[in-house]
Amino acid sequence: MAVVSPVKEKTAQAGNGTQGQSHEQIISYSPADARELGRVPVATLDDVKAAMAQARRAQTAWHDLGIGGRLAIMNRALDAMHHNADFMIDILVAESGKPKFEATVEYWASIEGMRYNLSIARKTLRTQRRPTLLIPHHIHRVEHRPYGVVLVIAPWNFPLFLSWPPIITALIAGNAVIYKPSEFATQMGQAIGKVLWEGGVPQQVFQIQHGAGSVGAALIQEHPDKIVFTGSPGTGRKIAAAAGDQLIPLTLELGGKDAAIVLEDADLDRTAAGVTWAGMLNAGQACLSVERVYVRREVADALVEKMVKVMTDHIRLGPGESHETSMGAITTAPQLEIIDRHVREAVAQGARVVIGGHAETDSQGRFYVPTLITDVKQDMSIISDETFGPVMAVVPVDSDDEALRLANDSRYGLTGSVWTRDVRRGMALARRMRVGQASVNDHVITASAPNVPWGGVGDSGYGRMNGPEGLLDMTYAQAITTPRWRPIPREIFWYPYSSGKIKLVRKAMNVLYTRGVIGKLRALFT
Ligand code: NAD
Repeated sequence: MAVVSPVKEKTAQAGNGTQGQSHEQIISYSPADARELGRVPVATLDDVKAAMAQARRAQTAWHDLGIGGRLAIMNRALDAMHHNADFMIDILVAESGKPKFEATVEYWASIEGMRYNLSIARKTLRTQRRPTLLIPHHIHRVEHRPYGVVLVIAPWNFPLFLSWPPIITALIAGNAVIYKPSEFATQMGQAIGKVLWEGGVPQQVFQIQHGAGSVGAALIQEHPDKIVFTGSPGTGRKIAAAAGDQLIPLTLELGGKDAAIVLEDADLDRTAAGVTWAGMLNAGQACLSVERVYVRREVADALVEKMVKVMTDHIRLGPGESHETSMGAITTAPQLEIIDRHVREAVAQGARVVIGGHAETDSQGRFYVPTLITDVKQDMSIISDETFGPVMAVVPVDSDDEALRLANDSRYGLTGSVWTRDVRRGMALARRMRVGQASVNDHVITASAPNVPWGGVGDSGYGRMNGPEGLLDMTYAQAITTPRWRPIPREIFWYPYSSGKIKLVRKAMNVLYTRGVIGKLRALFT
């Protein structure tokens, strides 16, 4: 297999870079043609400590700007992002190997998410007054306080789209941010810094610390006030343990093994087009990739035929820069190995490759051809583990319930979809899918909606990004209670206690919790 190894050889060493004082570098190479794209220094332990100390100092002033001051700067950062569109899209294409169209859409979804968050920020973060119920002479207010310093640890597959929402929501809410991009997406990390700093976000309020997992781990040891992690469940577990040890609040956006359920009444042309795209998008390197298709047996052969046709007619492998390309490279060498292993294991266990099933050998870069597999079993790794490549398994089923049972038979629970002409029937099944997002006759749609919460259940993680929920996730609620009128000398709940007070409280409870007006009057006067 003629696959070059453009992944940074130094990255492995960079993992230990935090121990030393000299700056090692991460060299970024194109996965499509192995050309060097740039270098960044790996953070040392001293860098990590200094970054955290600076962020802590700078956060107070950032918060003190108030929502108006922060929004003014973040709006300028939105402008900077807009002016840097070509620059950012080109980096996405070069560094991750994705086709230009997909990079353009990733950029668009990111900037739109920012526009949305800026538009809802005042309303979402404003102080609420809550009724005081049993103590009417007080007023409660609920205010949304920033945590302080938020650590954002990001993956490589959508290096902009998955880094951007936690970064901008944390900043809007008044936090300082330390960002550790993936060691496989360092140039995109730098680009994110460029637009935020150009917009006027102070250098110490948004900082980047480069490195592999050990830099992420070292940053956690500096006790950030909140962590947002997007990545694999394996790393998520380690981060949850480290965060749990220090009781640091955590949002985990982890992997997926998404299922699509195709019913016998589905529009098969639309379904084949939609499901295949949702499995092949970003060369399948997406947490929300459709990797399992459970299809009613009566239409299974027809669906497979149409999916194969979509793959052969529409998918062109190649460098992302070419407008002809509809599937780019596999971004990292370890990922290509996982994809290859899953397919080989499935075939060895009796699965049938209908199309594809191998890496592209005629290329200088790292490519895997679109692959469709049948005759699979639930316990094969191709069904149980995240493949994260352009590989889809199709499984015929005899009933809706069987489809649902098999779809839910997964430790993951990110996204699911049902394909049918009967939207009510589809919704009924979608509701029973154990996933954070379910849709009818579409799959990826929820991820592109910045106003809808995004997150998983099970091994797909917990916490939510996007929507007002995502912005609020960057804050903790603080209740502030003040006297409504001139304070009374002593509250009833304070000392001294007495039998009279006990009687009074019992009477109040009786009146409150007896149903009906007559019952309440009786409770009051007996
Ligand atoms: P990964 O878990 O290998 O790495 C993610 C990040 O964690 C990187 O920045 C890495 O350097 C860092 N890291 C690794 N070990 C660490 C440690 N011990 N402490 C702190 N940080 C550490 O994931 P990846 O390969 O970059 O990304 C692919 C995974 O991300 C897939 O499982 C995919 O499904 C998942 N993902 C999930 C979502 C979602 O929204 N749910 C979105 C995209 C990707």
